[in-house]
Amino acid sequence: MHVHLLTIFPEFFATPLAVGVPKRARDAGALRVSLVDLREYTTDRHRSTDDYPYGGGPGMVMKAEPIIDALEAIRVGAPRTRRVLLSPRGATLSHARAATLATEDDLALVCGRYEGVDERVRDFVDEELSIGDYVLSGGEAAALVVLDAIARLLPGVLGNVESAAAESFVAGMLEYPQYTRPEIVRGVPVPPVLLSGDHTAVARWREAQARELTRRVRPDLLEG
Ligand code: SAM
Repeated sequence: MHVHLLTIFPEFFATPLAVGVPKRARDAGALRVSLVDLREYTTDRHRSTDDYPYGGGPGMVMKAEPIIDALEAIRVGAPRTRRVLLSPRGATLSHARAATLATEDDLALVCGRYEGVDERVRDFVDEELSIGDYVLSGGEAAALVVLDAIARLLPGVLGNVESAAAESFVAGMLEYPQYTRPEIVRGVPVPPVLLSGDHTAVARWREAQARELTRRVRPDLLEG
């Protein structure tokens, strides 16, 4: 999968792309990331990507043309690029949405800044995506969230397919509680069943724990 990150701060992505799952996905050849500096698509000598809002009001608005020109310049082989604008106005990212996006061959993530982007950009994207009901100062952090959620779903990236299948939201529940060594921490022992070596009993315990945890903290998930 090829992901194009359209941003005025390409340097924002340097470390996150060089560690953890995104790095592993890139090393495995499952993920290719291109950083597209929107300033490269400006025409004035100040390389301005923002301007004052028509009608007045606070702050600056990202200009439409550098974004549209950058989107139109993306041409990678046969597949059409799916264009996504990160925006508080979009549908909220979910596991299901990440899984669908992970099937795309080519994806462009547009990162807004300031007061947002000129409304006319919306005619040039396929969808708007939010990562939650709060406002970030820029779309870069949101794009990273989307990229990370997708990268771990790409074939061959996570070592253990089973672990991905049991994770929160995959089967409409939260994941069961996890423990590691030592056996006792500040007087709290690991549940004995996990030391029993009985795989059927462990699986049954985990299923029950996942269901109970979900019922307690995210009953909305079980309604589905
Ligand atoms: N004035 C806008 C509003 O009230 O909806 C907020 C603009 S925000 C400060 C700047 C940029 O950050 C947005 O254009 C978008 O790209 C990104 N952003 C902010 N919050 C976001 C969220 N919850 N999900 C996705 N992107 C977000």
